[in-house]
Amino acid sequence: MSFVENKADVLVIGGGIAGIRAAIEASESGVDVIILNKGAICKDGAAAWMAGNGFQVALYPPDSIETHIKDSIKAGWYLNNQTLVKTFLSLGPRVVSDMNKWGVRLAKEDDRFSQLPFPGHSLPRSVCGKPGLFLGPEYKKALYRQIKRRNIKVKEDFFSTDLLVHNNTVGGVVGLDLRSGSTEVFRAKSTILATGGFMGCYNFTTANPNLTGDGHAMAYRAGTKMMDMEFMQFMPGAHLWPANARGDIYPYLLWVNLHPQFYNILGERFLERYYPEKKEWVTREAAGRAIATEVREGRGSPHGGAYMSFHHLPENLINHFLERAAGVHYFEKLRDAGLDIRRDAIEIAPAAHYVQGGCWINERCETSYKGLYAVGEVGSGGKDGADRLAGNSITFCLAMGVVGGEEAARRAKEAPLPEINKSDVEKLSQQIMSPLKSPKGKRPIEVKRKIREILSTYATLSRDETGLKTAIEQLKQIRENDIPAMATIAKHRTFNLDWLDALEVNNMLDVGELVCTSALTRPETRGLHERIDFPKADPGWLKHIMISKEGDGMKISTEPVDFCIIQPDKEV
Ligand SMILES: Cc1cc2nc3c(=O)[nH]c(=O)nc-3n(C[C@H](O)[C@H](O)[C@H](O)COP(=O)(O)OP(=O)(O)OC[C@H]3O[C@@H](n4cnc5c(N)ncnc54)[C@H](O)[C@@H]3O)c2cc1C
Repeated sequence: MSFVENKADVLVIGGGIAGIRAAIEASESGVDVIILNKGAICKDGAAAWMAGNGFQVALYPPDSIETHIKDSIKAGWYLNNQTLVKTFLSLGPRVVSDMNKWGVRLAKEDDRFSQLPFPGHSLPRSVCGKPGLFLGPEYKKALYRQIKRRNIKVKEDFFSTDLLVHNNTVGGVVGLDLRSGSTEVFRAKSTILATGGFMGCYNFTTANPNLTGDGHAMAYRAGTKMMDMEFMQFMPGAHLWPANARGDIYPYLLWVNLHPQFYNILGERFLERYYPEKKEWVTREAAGRAIATEVREGRGSPHGGAYMSFHHLPENLINHFLERAAGVHYFEKLRDAGLDIRRDAIEIAPAAHYVQGGCWINERCETSYKGLYAVGEVGSGGKDGADRLAGNSITFCLAMGVVGGEEAARRAKEAPLPEINKSDVEKLSQQIMSPLKSPKGKRPIEVKRKIREILSTYATLSRDETGLKTAIEQLKQIRENDIPAMATIAKHRTFNLDWLDALEVNNMLDVGELVCTSALTRPETRGLHERIDFPKADPGWLKHIMISKEGDGMKISTEPVDFCIIQPDKEV
């Protein structure tokens, strides 16, 4: 089989905020950079373009990077890799300054950036846009201009499927050019994984369903060390009902701006019961868990969530907010559904929102393979601990982009182009083609739905041993029975989305097995990982779960936390 072979000094797989920031930093060093992206660059479903509320950076006294580090580690239930937290958060002031310089319209008072308070932060720290302004579209416009200015090459509509590894060194990637329907190889001295999360493995998500954990699965299949896969964030401020705004994250913006009250079907302000002092002003994990408990115990709202209500606020105060948020699409959707927040409560529920598990990385964003770096959501390193502090992600993604881009460029200047194994390329190309070749069989979208249902039932906010074992068994059945019988109905090669579904299914299956196995291995409740059968945190489990592929099985081990900056202040 012949294939097109391309070369670059630095290859970036994934064109979201972390990938583009890494590409910019690498190109600053004068190396040749290519970004491969599953969709159109800066016009696709990257989570970054949907991000709304801003990001957290300690800028002015009395705040300090030390306080921000402390807040992050406390929110992470002391499971964070403290060195990574310090490395990335210390770059906060620089990444704000760059984004401001590149044209992101951040709110300011006099010469200082305005900063909003957020739950879990001890001081107002969120750099933000003007009230009602979503920053996501600002990020993509600014970063797109930088790609163009620097002549960074971009290959759009390219679905990267597998890393090419030879002698424990990553030498590039193979994938499918969705426009031509042919496989291509990209070889590079340094490869940066920046494929985002796997929220698309769940039924209900605030993110784009095409984020199917491709980078996670690629890294795992290639033999990279993965970690913390049991920690998945479900955002409780996601719109649930009416259905026309399902998954919209705007209620979270209302939560932090208007301080609404949450009610169950009995009309109880139930968070008072769980958190008598803070009530609704708790972390997302805390609110999410309380909503999940209310639903499980039969007190949820009619569609399986909770009510968010604004009735306690004077109407002119709400009007003032609505005037400032004029033009926000979410309110049009509410109007279409006959709802008005001055009068009506809206139904919200926890939705898959953010992924904390991914590749093991060190403070240079290097993975366990030479030549492979990971940035953004796919690069875990344990930076978030058991629960990400709100608004830390964009800060982490930008900072990791700076570090990963710089390190990848440094290596590209020193190292030769790694060898790749042509027979691996041949085998992987045939695997890419196989769903087209089977004459008929199960449709990939059906298998996708099955995986989403399994994970949404058993590997969601609250888990237990029986459910996780059931999930692992059902995923195994899919691997043994459904995958070999899977075939696309459409057989054409250009932009065949049925084919794309088939390739994503493989990744979802790997990710699903990693999540369930990790969750089963951790017999305690910590942060985002609630085990109903082990409702308390166990100090003996202040360690990370590491998984790597060994033959056809998984090698599971643990690594203790290094409390090099702060010690746990209580028994967690
Ligand atoms: C609705 C929403 C709101 C949020 N709001 C905030 C906020 O206010 N503040 C905050 O700090 N965080 C927020 N977050 C989290 C934050 O946006 C994300 O964590 C962050 O954007 C992740 O960046 P990333 O670069 O890792 O991934 P992404 O931005 O998701 O980018 C991943 C890219 O990789 C590409 N890709 C994936 N697979 C492949 C493949 N196989 N081949 C080629 N390309 C591929 C995708 O197309 C995509 O472009 C929000 C998240 C969501 C979903």
